Amino acid sequence: MVILKKAKTLITLLNHHIKEGKKIGFVPTMGALHQGHISLIISSSLNNDITVCSIFVNPSQFNNPEDYKHYPQQIDKDISLLEPTNCDILFIPSIEEMYPPGYCKKIYELGDLEKKFEGLYRPGHFQGVCQVVDQLLAIIRPAALYLGQKDYQQFLVIQKLLKLTGRSKSISLAMVPTKREEDGLAMSSRNMRLHPGHRAIAAEIWRQLEYLKNHVKDGPFPQLIAKARLRLEEVGFQVDYVDIVRVGDLQQALDVSTPLVGLIAATIGGIRLIDNRFLN
Ligand code: AMP
Repeated sequence: MVILKKAKTLITLLNHHIKEGKKIGFVPTMGALHQGHISLIISSSLNNDITVCSIFVNPSQFNNPEDYKHYPQQIDKDISLLEPTNCDILFIPSIEEMYPPGYCKKIYELGDLEKKFEGLYRPGHFQGVCQVVDQLLAIIRPAALYLGQKDYQQFLVIQKLLKLTGRSKSISLAMVPTKREEDGLAMSSRNMRLHPGHRAIAAEIWRQLEYLKNHVKDGPFPQLIAKARLRLEEVGFQVDYVDIVRVGDLQQALDVSTPLVGLIAATIGGIRLIDNRFLN
């Protein structure tokens, strides 16, 4: 695995591969890697000639400075985890590399998608995500981009970004299923910050998504949502949202006539967790 810090060097190396007609798969991450990230690397390496992974804790997507300050960083561990995989290139840019002096902040017309759920609770978050992903795509020029279902709203935002920037013509977007711990908790870099007592109950989020899935046909949705929220609160979560919405646009839904996704965001011991599940 080649490790690069400079965009210029990466561009030169990839020019060479692109000229040779090699297909590049790209996996953007913020590091503190786990098996969820590795499953994206595996998907990319099975379908492309070259797999590029980036690790960049992007300050512009953190609305909460404390969250940014405490975001886990463990680059040596990450490299050890990536070495035995088929990741060919690891890109670890500095903040100055991604946001050089004079960097002009773009605004992306994400519409309704950035006004709800994560967009509502983390103002500016998706603009920050788009800023960094747009730049990474310009540098890496992948044929395929691999994202996790774990961040389903982010997947939809990036899908929109590709359309807005005309990149959807050259980049295929793949959604990789969420990797979970044995008790169902979605793997996340944030999990390592959970107090053991909180870790033991964190899988309640998954159990409530299961509950929504098992009862979605019976409805009514408001009752199911209220029950799931109450259960999460009972075990100690502060709940931002529990909802049942349409797959694809996250619009409100009243019945099972369209594909639905259950969304949950909740905090325990100061650690905010999100998860989702397709329901029908
Ligand atoms: P992050 O490093 O958390 O920004 O995540 C980088 C990529 O990995 C995103 O596309 C996430 O959706 C994906 N990802 C994070 N956790 C998981 C997981 N448990 N299973 C699959 N993909 C994941």
